[in-house]
Amino acid sequence: MKDMDQAGAPSVEEPADLHLHSNRSDGTEPPADVMRSAHAHGVRAVALTDHDTTAGWAEAADAAVSLGMTFLPGAELSTRLDGRSVHLLAYLFDPDDASLRAQMDDVRGDRMGRAERIVANISRDYDLGWDDVVAQTRTGATVGRPHIADALVAAGIVADRGEAFAGILHPREGYYVPHEAPDVFTAIALVRQAGGVPVMAHPATSSRSGMIPLPTLHDLVDAGLAGFEIDHRENTASGRRVLQRLVTERDLIATGSSDYHGLGKPNLPGENTTPAAMVERIIAAGTGSRPARP
Ligand code: AMP
Ligand code: FE
Ligand code: FE
Ligand code: ZN
Repeated sequence: MKDMDQAGAPSVEEPADLHLHSNRSDGTEPPADVMRSAHAHGVRAVALTDHDTTAGWAEAADAAVSLGMTFLPGAELSTRLDGRSVHLLAYLFDPDDASLRAQMDDVRGDRMGRAERIVANISRDYDLGWDDVVAQTRTGATVGRPHIADALVAAGIVADRGEAFAGILHPREGYYVPHEAPDVFTAIALVRQAGGVPVMAHPATSSRSGMIPLPTLHDLVDAGLAGFEIDHRENTASGRRVLQRLVTERDLIATGSSDYHGLGKPNLPGENTTPAAMVERIIAAGTGSRPARP
């Protein structure tokens, strides 16, 4: 007999980890294996949030449910704000919504051409070609610098993704090319219109430009942003304090998650978690698709 809340829906079990990547984008494991890894680390409610794609949803949902976990379909959308890259987690949107699909298709297409340009730049100084990157990328996956990193590792040029990002793939080295992405306000509107729940990913990573200014964060909330991923290993302590005050003041959703990428990053499932009450708020707010329940 499952626990039932007052509305009669089964309640979400803890711990919940709502930010995981598979090889449909830049994680190293297939979606079902990501769910197995999460379960093995004790996680009991999950979301799959591949970059700019929903391709892993069906496989992940089946695996999660068979392991007894609640599954939230999601994605991590690439967006921009005043020249800075902003990652927007989106949950429970309609995967067939034409406008949101078009946005994700455009970003994936542009990421492909951009990755080829980065590789062309690298190939001036290193023995690396586009075929080497293709060999590291599952057909149809959202291509990113992590796949170029894997090709650099396979070619023996660097030891791991971390070394690639600290060196050759870092913008200061001169090979980097940015990719196109929609304005974050546009993306928030598209997610909401598709019935989804937008939550800003790792908003307080230390970067040259610093965190988005507080007045702009308020504007984003006014535009439909539902919450912030506060507990993430890359968020600074001072940034978390600002975000926590904002979340309390505006009664927003606060999440914590691992940003697991399989072997591609040290992040492990369940290293940060989201309280069940917050997961329930996301489920209550999302109308474009339903969670899968065991
Ligand atoms: P891109 O969106 O193609 O510019 O690549 C950014 C992606 O690279 C992010 O989604 C991260 O998952 C990944 N990434 C960033 N820094 C590192 C790192 N130091 N080690 C491994 N992966 C990283
Ligand atoms: Fe990633
Ligand atoms: Fe991200
Ligand atoms: Zn991520």
